[in-house]
Amino acid sequence: MTADVSLAAGRGYLAIPGPSVIPDAVLQAMHRPSPNIYAGELVEMTATLIPDLRRVARTEHHVAIYISNGHGAWEAALQNTLQPGDTVLVASSGRFAIGWSEMAEALGIKVELLDFGTGAPWDMDQIASHLAADTAHRIKAVLAVHVDTSSSIRNDVAAMRAALDACDHPALLMADCIASLGCDRFEMDAWGVDVMVAACQKGLMVPAGMGFVFFSPKAAEARARLPRVSRYWDWEPRANPEEFYQYFGGTAPTHHLYGLRAALDLIHAEGMEAVWARHHHLARAIWAACDAWGAGGPLRMNVQDVALRSNAVTSLHLGGDDATRLRTWVEQTLGLTLGIGLGMAPPNSPEWHGFLRLGHMGHVSGQMIMGLLGGVDAGLKALEIPHGSGALEAASQVIAGAGAASVAETSERGSCCG
Ligand SMILES: *Cc1c(COP(=O)(O)O)cnc(C)c1O
Repeated sequence: MTADVSLAAGRGYLAIPGPSVIPDAVLQAMHRPSPNIYAGELVEMTATLIPDLRRVARTEHHVAIYISNGHGAWEAALQNTLQPGDTVLVASSGRFAIGWSEMAEALGIKVELLDFGTGAPWDMDQIASHLAADTAHRIKAVLAVHVDTSSSIRNDVAAMRAALDACDHPALLMADCIASLGCDRFEMDAWGVDVMVAACQKGLMVPAGMGFVFFSPKAAEARARLPRVSRYWDWEPRANPEEFYQYFGGTAPTHHLYGLRAALDLIHAEGMEAVWARHHHLARAIWAACDAWGAGGPLRMNVQDVALRSNAVTSLHLGGDDATRLRTWVEQTLGLTLGIGLGMAPPNSPEWHGFLRLGHMGHVSGQMIMGLLGGVDAGLKALEIPHGSGALEAASQVIAGAGAASVAETSERGSCCG
């Protein structure tokens, strides 16, 4: 292709691990004048969001909505459960766990960090003995990032609950599902999670600007024991508002709420199981393509074990400065934006340019993923980065099989559960 030809006109595709692609239905729901925030439609509509958020998180417990990003939800979770001098255990499989721990430290909370790097999941044996050794119950909470968006490792939150229960440890289990909610299976109540933080711009498909903290009665008791809680981050009035403004600690995020209503409608029309199955099948197509590319070149997925891979994000290594070259080429030439590598090398160091990530969370379909993979394939060719052949064929085989499998699964569900 000659250098002056661009193929980037037409609808672009932002394939970064958040913010994710916004559905047209969400954009349309947000395209309206500001509503009355004291009575009427907005007030009634907001009440309908609460049960539908609970259904996404698979919980019967409370949820507080914040005008914030995920960092705000992180801070809210800490502010409502801990005080300076308290100790938390952080199990890390990447940059986001470290980020949450740094936020805790900034609030005067002591952090015990079990850092498993960016290439391994939690070592449950090591965590279990660390918890068992804490007979004085110094550790007040365990901070557990479900999917670390830097490494794309998915950790086993249910196993963390089992480790706590095995030694009767009373620490709160606090999960970060900012990347995974609505992409990877997560069961707040069944897995015994006390606090879960999420944000709206990843699997929930809404523009960045809302954070969520779900919390159990046990977490509410921890909140009640604190001498003081930051007024803005206090989850109490938000989860149990007597006046509408208490939901948000002030003016409601009006347009985000309409967007969220539309996004939750999409999610529940599809069904949680179907949403998770779609993400898994599309992720398998991506992994098949990556395996094929890697068979004849340097491209590697960060997570080797399929069972530990997230369905929402795939962290890749190309080496040299090829990841930056590839990202630049597909964005400028094709209108396809890939994610930068995060937490795998110091920002803008020479090594940093060898990492990238593919976001495949939320509003993604089979044709979008085939387009994403086709774009990467073309970029590898255009830049003469060595790669194995047959990646698109391999992905297409998975997509074709996934179509048949999902039809079968649907009819099975139909016959057993109506
Ligand atoms: C995106 C993300 C965050 C941070 O969310 P922001 O909205 O950028 O503050 C935290 N944790 C995980 C796992 C994430 O994916």
